[in-house]
Amino acid sequence: MPDLNLPRVPVDEGQTLYSADIEQAAAQVRDWWNVPRGPVQDVVRLLEMNGIIVVRFRVSIEKVDAFCVDFPDRPVVALGADKGLRDRSRFDSAHELGHLVLHGVNGRIGDKVTESQAHEFAAAFLMPAEDIKPELPERLDWPAFLRLKTKWHVSLAALLVRAKTLGVMSEHTYAQAWKTLSVRGWRKAEPGPLGNPEAPVLLQRALELMETTGTSFADFINRSGLPEADIRNLLSRDISERPRVEF
Ligand SMILES: [Zn+2]
Repeated sequence: MPDLNLPRVPVDEGQTLYSADIEQAAAQVRDWWNVPRGPVQDVVRLLEMNGIIVVRFRVSIEKVDAFCVDFPDRPVVALGADKGLRDRSRFDSAHELGHLVLHGVNGRIGDKVTESQAHEFAAAFLMPAEDIKPELPERLDWPAFLRLKTKWHVSLAALLVRAKTLGVMSEHTYAQAWKTLSVRGWRKAEPGPLGNPEAPVLLQRALELMETTGTSFADFINRSGLPEADIRNLLSRDISERPRVEF
């Protein structure tokens, strides 16, 4: 497994966190990880390369798209498998990263404040203000928004929120935009699908390595004490074929 390489910008108890602080925290993580300017190519790969375990499985709890557990040795991010949307899933991964960076040490998450902080972090991480601001239209130029969706691999909804938060789009235009999304049924199914969600590869790769050192998958299951079906479920290729990647 790659060593854990995760910068933390912990929020203190009772500390007011301004949007500028969150933008800065997201920029710090991008810098630390040498993410080039512009869109993040693959959020899941980035987390895995920096030692964070990512798994994908069916989260059976309604309203929970993803969650993370900040174990002492290395954090685990769990993504739901049932949504199937690349843009939404990338945002989920970046949101959980936000929790790890901002709240991991204190461990208080799940309330309205920390949720919105993680959301702001995700938006800033995926769409850094200085890069995306000049590209965002102030009017409801849907073809332009669709081009940005394809370029940045984020949803139209996320782009609209970003346009409003960064002050590019007025409150009035923003409200109009959401009406249009509702009327056209785009809140349920947006146009411009981006293909399969990003796929974790690290655990699978680690198991393959383990097998080359003489420990079989069956040995591993016996020693783990976990139900085989659960492990197979976590490692299964049910989303898409995992690309082979060297870490
Ligand atoms: Zn959250």
